[in-house]
Amino acid sequence: MITDTHCHIYYDEIKSDIENVLKRAEETGIKKIIVPAVDFKTSIEILELSEKYEMIYALVGIHPTEVAKTNESDLDKVFDLLKYEKVVGIGESGLDYYWDKSGIDKQKEFFIAHINKAKEIGKPIVIHTRDSTSDAIDIIKTNYNENLKGQFHCFSGTIEEAKIILQLNGFYISFCGNITYKNNKDSEVVKFIPSDRLLSETDSPFLTPVPNRGKTNEPANIIYTIKKIAELKEIDVTELTNNLYKNSEKLFFNK
Ligand SMILES: [Zn+2]
Repeated sequence: MITDTHCHIYYDEIKSDIENVLKRAEETGIKKIIVPAVDFKTSIEILELSEKYEMIYALVGIHPTEVAKTNESDLDKVFDLLKYEKVVGIGESGLDYYWDKSGIDKQKEFFIAHINKAKEIGKPIVIHTRDSTSDAIDIIKTNYNENLKGQFHCFSGTIEEAKIILQLNGFYISFCGNITYKNNKDSEVVKFIPSDRLLSETDSPFLTPVPNRGKTNEPANIIYTIKKIAELKEIDVTELTNNLYKNSEKLFFNK
């Protein structure tokens, strides 16, 4: 059994073919697909999809690149959606210094607001970083308490940075399809993360793994990334797959 912990299924590229995308996901062994929001509008959209399709679960939040266009009252509206049963966490939140260098202070402010909400309600926070991993880790560390748990998704940090995350009980790390690319620099970090702190994700429709690179990404492609992780860590694919599923059940479903 597999969970795709990060799939933007509401983007037209995959949503237009959603029935087939979900069917192929099921055939691959995927039981659950967790869909992160980027703003209030997508939070609502995901909630609707989660009500329509059993395997879809929602995250609600404001993505760091959307923070500049968002005000505090929109954030309250997003947090208000956390009461719905199929909302299993907050996200994606975090810091993005690649697409938005100007609004860093506001990004940090929103990131901390997401962290505080996660602590308050005991649901995980899903963290996006781009050129900002070290600042994001600092903020998580500073605001950490035993109620806080979460996922550093599409991790691109160093082994040293990973070590700090692993010291925080309840935090997990995940990698996307780019670890299958020839020029990828994350192999050593992937090898370093213990299986009980890893999660599986696709970040669909982005970052399609080899051998489907160049096509639109979808949850079914998750197996190529899982196989790559198993290969790098020199462990059995089935054993890894079971571990990844267990980890996502623990983090998002309190099991
Ligand atoms: Zn994402």
